[in-house]
Amino acid sequence: MCGIVGYIGDKEAYPIIIKGLHRLEYRGYDSAGVALLNGSLNVYKCKGKVSDLETFAKEKDKKGNIGIGHTRWATHGEPNDVNAHPHCSQSGDIVLIHNGIIENYAPIKQELKKRSYVFKSETDTEVLVNLIEDIKKNESVSLFEAVRIALNQVVGAYAIVVFEKSNPDELIAAKKGSPLVIGVGEKEFFIGSDATPIVEYTKNVIYLEDEEIAVLKRSGEIKIKTIKNKAKTPYIEELEMKLDTLEKGGFPHFMLKEIYEQPRSIKDSMRGRLNATKGTVNLGGIADYEKAFVNAKRIIIIGCGTSWHAGLVAEYLFEDLARIPVEVEYASEFRYRNPVIHEDDVVIAISQSGETADTLAAIELAKSKGATIIGICNVVGSSIPRATHAGSYTHAGPEIGVASTKAFTAQITILTLMALQIAQAKGTLSRTKFHELINELNVIPEKVQAVLERNKEIEAIAKIYKDARNALYLGRGYTFPVALEGALKLKEISYIHAEGYPAAEMKHGPIALIDENMPVFVIATQGTSYEKVVSNIQEVKARKGKIIAVVTEGDTVVKGLADYTIEVPQADEHLVPLIAVIPLQLLSYHVAVMRGCNVDQPRNLAKSVTVE
Ligand code: GLU
Repeated sequence: MCGIVGYIGDKEAYPIIIKGLHRLEYRGYDSAGVALLNGSLNVYKCKGKVSDLETFAKEKDKKGNIGIGHTRWATHGEPNDVNAHPHCSQSGDIVLIHNGIIENYAPIKQELKKRSYVFKSETDTEVLVNLIEDIKKNESVSLFEAVRIALNQVVGAYAIVVFEKSNPDELIAAKKGSPLVIGVGEKEFFIGSDATPIVEYTKNVIYLEDEEIAVLKRSGEIKIKTIKNKAKTPYIEELEMKLDTLEKGGFPHFMLKEIYEQPRSIKDSMRGRLNATKGTVNLGGIADYEKAFVNAKRIIIIGCGTSWHAGLVAEYLFEDLARIPVEVEYASEFRYRNPVIHEDDVVIAISQSGETADTLAAIELAKSKGATIIGICNVVGSSIPRATHAGSYTHAGPEIGVASTKAFTAQITILTLMALQIAQAKGTLSRTKFHELINELNVIPEKVQAVLERNKEIEAIAKIYKDARNALYLGRGYTFPVALEGALKLKEISYIHAEGYPAAEMKHGPIALIDENMPVFVIATQGTSYEKVVSNIQEVKARKGKIIAVVTEGDTVVKGLADYTIEVPQADEHLVPLIAVIPLQLLSYHVAVMRGCNVDQPRNLAKSVTVE
């Protein structure tokens, strides 16, 4: 995964790079490093966060108006000082940062060793920089040409930025499979894994395509070629991103800020698409593909992590409202399973970042079999929206906290709109029910707000269970995926082992875990399975388990049984996931804070999973 930043121009590079790395730290935080050129080449890097790098580099010479920086999510070699990027070539002339994996690094390394290259790190990246050096020397070519030849030899994914000590006037950037954005200023260029390090300097950006190499010159000239040496015309786009969305805005953590943003982010996802007064739903992005949905014999939804959970909610929605069979797949399993895909399948790919490597590969596979591919992503201009036939952005705004919150509810909002639109096109939903649902959906942001106002209550419950070693989450029907998501949130940020289950499945195994120390979080809101869930709660109580239940306002039955209850406003069962997940997000947040965990950057995780 990792975040990469580069700068060339007449400003001091270090402050721009450090600020950019802080913004990209959600992508990885195993180590950080910079390389700056100012006559001499200075490389500073160390294990830990960007703030550790700042401390490390405090007294050092940080001058230079060309430089690169990296925040790492280790794939090859443990997180330590030596494996940290940037990596220099053997001679020390070439320096490079890399996001991705060079899959054939081992045979190349062997070959280079035979040619007396000595490797300091265990990374695949150091192999690439030495391969470039080797080509440059042997073929007597420019750095650009050496990079181009080297990239024709490597297998895998990369976004790289590279420059050489002898040339302070040129930065070279290339990508395949990992994202890279170039900001175009007045005789200066900025490079980032996404646009967040760039937005305050320029709104003009170029999203580099796969297998493209850009040469950025201090004079302001830019040249783009493919690795096959075909010239490309740079396509400059205007960035739509507001700076204040990248700051914490008075909240102690991004995650809390993002939980609180949900009334707005859900509304933004519906804006211009749902018109409750006119009684219409129109996702413009899929307008041309409505027919494909209507004729589809099957919808396949692919995603990873939280996006997969949103896909499970959509399974209930599409089957129930639009009467189309749905399969929900982990992208990583789907792509390697030789799946049966038909031309009349519609594949919906869900990814917050729009860069998830497994989802991207699954899309390519489904596309090659002729299926229609629809994307649901949050990051505008990312790889998945560009790889799909059509789709809808979630408009949740940048999500920085590694544990996804507002992206999840925005994804469900879009999927609900999509299911409604298709149900209407297919005529599978009565007009009355259609109107009822869009009116309900329209007021969901207020209901989410009402749940947020119970934050203090939820914090008090978190305090009681903060030292639990295990937790069980149960839901049924539309709330089963919510149980999975609740358990995932707790695991991710507080490192408490948690499992989500369909409530009725509990008696087929997990019930054996229940004793007086086991907190069981149950989503017991009003709906078709309410009575059944009440029985499941009885089963837990009979075994002395502790019940913390999310219930509909005014509930008395579960209140009488549960140890603690959290009330959420009444809502149609189809829309309950949007509000029932909020208390679970807040609960995990408070537990993690009380346990002293790093909420925004949980260990071993990274936000945008650009490696498979
Ligand atoms: N494969 C490289 C490494 O392990 C880069 C990983 C990344 O994308 O951060 O250092």
